[in-house]
Amino acid sequence: MVETNEVDIKIPAQGNPRKIKVLMYHLITDNNNFCRKFKSISLPVESFRSQIKFLERWGFTPITFEDYQLYLEGELNLPKKPIILTFDDGYEDIYKYVYPIMKEYGMKGVLFITADRKVKTSVWDAHFGIPQLPLLNNQQIIELHAAGFEIGSHSISHPQLPHIPREKAWEEISRSRMILEILLNNPVKTFAYPYGLTNDTIKHMTIDAGYNFGCGTYTGPPIFGQDHSEIRRMLISGSMPIKYFALRMLTPYQYCDWTRWKIKTKFFRQLGNDAGYPI
Ligand SMILES: [Zn+2]
Repeated sequence: MVETNEVDIKIPAQGNPRKIKVLMYHLITDNNNFCRKFKSISLPVESFRSQIKFLERWGFTPITFEDYQLYLEGELNLPKKPIILTFDDGYEDIYKYVYPIMKEYGMKGVLFITADRKVKTSVWDAHFGIPQLPLLNNQQIIELHAAGFEIGSHSISHPQLPHIPREKAWEEISRSRMILEILLNNPVKTFAYPYGLTNDTIKHMTIDAGYNFGCGTYTGPPIFGQDHSEIRRMLISGSMPIKYFALRMLTPYQYCDWTRWKIKTKFFRQLGNDAGYPI
């Protein structure tokens, strides 16, 4: 009798994660005046619709960080043109405008939500003279999650994490995950740093708190997958004509963006801004 040793050989999933582009949206609104005034955080609904149409026409497939985790575990192949659409701050307009449009195209995205569920408006925007806007309620978050959207944490109260005491930062990172997990009855494995502000201590905290991924805004390497705790995203906002959106999607635009950011950071450091962030 021949003895066989059964070996569990894991076949790696197929796909190229370096191709993954990560987009960052905030507010999608039909208030064109607001969009003109606060270009950096808003985008008109019609521009968003044109962008989604463009993504569909050019064969992009929106995935989530949960999908990417499954790819890493060999459980899911990546599509040919993977893209991750992220939405920060959890504005109610996501439910009103983003959800119906993405549903129409069979797409899903990633929402970064603040975990203090008693806060009903974007109180943090007031510091920048931006009107406070209504946030998603619990029911809407649960519905979006059930429809395939990944829910990530955006802290409890949207502070500048590197600039608050360590214990407070730890609470913002770890407790927000627990609150959202209880709300969704599902693991929450992705974190987005408020204002994109992070450093090595904060990054280690997110890993220790059980997150698989941390999203930055202006920071992180240009190639996806090189630093899971500081994933670089491309800001999509203002009245961006579709040709500029196409440029970002069809070229290795993130490298130009990264080079520009590096030069800018050096300049800010010379001015004495330790963080080096252009905010
Ligand atoms: Zn935010």
